[in-house]
Amino acid sequence: MNRNQFIRMGSMAKLGGAFFSHSGCKQPVRLKNWAGNIEFSTEKVIRVKSLSELQHVVRNTGKLKIQGTRHCFNKIADSHECLLSLRDMNKVIFMDKERGLVQVEGGITYGELAPILHQNGMALHNLASLPHISIAGAIATATHGSGLQNGNLATSVVALEFIDGNGDLRQLSREKDGERFAGAVIGLGAVGITTKITLKTVPTFDVRQYVFEGLAVEQLYANFESIMSAGYSVSLFTEWRQDVVKKIWVKSRMDEEDLGKSGKDWFGARLSSPDLHTPASNRTPLVVPGPWFERLPHFKMGFVPSSGSELQSEYFVPMELAVEAYRQVNLLGDDIRPHLLISEIRTVAGDDLWMSPAYRQPSLTIHFTWKQETEAVMALLPRIEKALEPFKPKPHWGKLFTIGRKEIESVTERIGAFRDLAHSFDPDGRFRNEFLDTMIL
Ligand SMILES: Cc1cc2nc3c(=O)[nH]c(=O)nc-3n(C[C@H](O)[C@H](O)[C@H](O)COP(=O)(O)OP(=O)(O)OC[C@H]3O[C@@H](n4cnc5c(N)ncnc54)[C@H](O)[C@@H]3O)c2cc1C
Repeated sequence: MNRNQFIRMGSMAKLGGAFFSHSGCKQPVRLKNWAGNIEFSTEKVIRVKSLSELQHVVRNTGKLKIQGTRHCFNKIADSHECLLSLRDMNKVIFMDKERGLVQVEGGITYGELAPILHQNGMALHNLASLPHISIAGAIATATHGSGLQNGNLATSVVALEFIDGNGDLRQLSREKDGERFAGAVIGLGAVGITTKITLKTVPTFDVRQYVFEGLAVEQLYANFESIMSAGYSVSLFTEWRQDVVKKIWVKSRMDEEDLGKSGKDWFGARLSSPDLHTPASNRTPLVVPGPWFERLPHFKMGFVPSSGSELQSEYFVPMELAVEAYRQVNLLGDDIRPHLLISEIRTVAGDDLWMSPAYRQPSLTIHFTWKQETEAVMALLPRIEKALEPFKPKPHWGKLFTIGRKEIESVTERIGAFRDLAHSFDPDGRFRNEFLDTMIL
């Protein structure tokens, strides 16, 4: 998708109701996800503006599905009957600087919240590669950034308010509801429609990032932990070549070692020029320190993130098996490369959220940004999943995978409890869809 298509889709999304072509208001245009690989199965889209309107819609509609910013690559956010959007409910409700808390409405994006937090001396502990996504959608799918000490973005949530399947308002907090809270946060859209989220923050901080190029694969294998722990957030970008890892992107807080200061090679990889990310590029700036929300994501707000015309897949494997897992996927490099734009390798700290792929497991995440060649990619995924089988891979809930229900059950320890929890809040399955029925519920 080019920039114009992206902007057009954004303005279509503002219309609410069904979407119509510009040509003559006759032909309904089905809404698609951000990447355009999924066409949603209904033309009915309701953009609600208040809690009471939302409750009215839930009470008077059969099945429905809440959407965030539609950045998932699979059908997790699809509905055959009715799609809902909370994008007009995107306010900051309160900030408590002393306790380090912020409460926001369910339609806000990280890009909207982050500068407000920063102006008030606050920050989130981490961000994904892009700020364009809704907070509710990101936490519902266990979206993550990188960093050995950084849990996924849902680990910042301390309380949730949501509408259940009966249209009633419910609240859960870490403090009062313990286990039920831990089950509901990564809710995959199955537990309720999140209307308010309370997040714990940290004091605002600056980050400096460097890119190093051309790391020998053997250096990576020999120094894996030192490399992945060299900064607050470290990403490897690889094309799965036998000899070399293309780039390492190291994001460090100001109290960490300034890796690029000497201008020298690092584990034999060359320091990139800061001009690699020019002001006109969609990437966040190198070398010059900046506030957390302008450095932790790879892509800048106001630009199209990533390539646009792409597909994505990602798998979580246990951190202690990281090198072996990388080695196994690397063996498939010649088959992967023709369809690949780039792969990114990150780390995520373990957590206690039931549906988190990093549940009680510090993880390595192996991500693929694919060319938009659906057939070829879907044929290749089972081979990658087979190579990762010994490591019990868990898929990213919002990306493409072919791992089946049985395998998901076998690697998702709390799936039974999650089913019970979802059923208790949505007994008639109003928020269920084909994806959830097939894979989870
Ligand atoms: C260019 C690009 C880069 C990406 N980078 C990363 C990355 O760095 N790390 C990563 O982990 N992922 C990444 N992703 C994946 C993305 O972050 C996730 O798919 C995330 O879910 C997107 O949020 P969304 O609001 O668009 O969700 P949607 O696709 O709109 O919805 C996802 C799920 O959330 C549910 N949901 C949405 N709003 C609510 C609500 N208010 N209440 C309850 N449930 C709700 C939906 O029902 C659905 O089940 C990337 C995707 C793209 C396109």
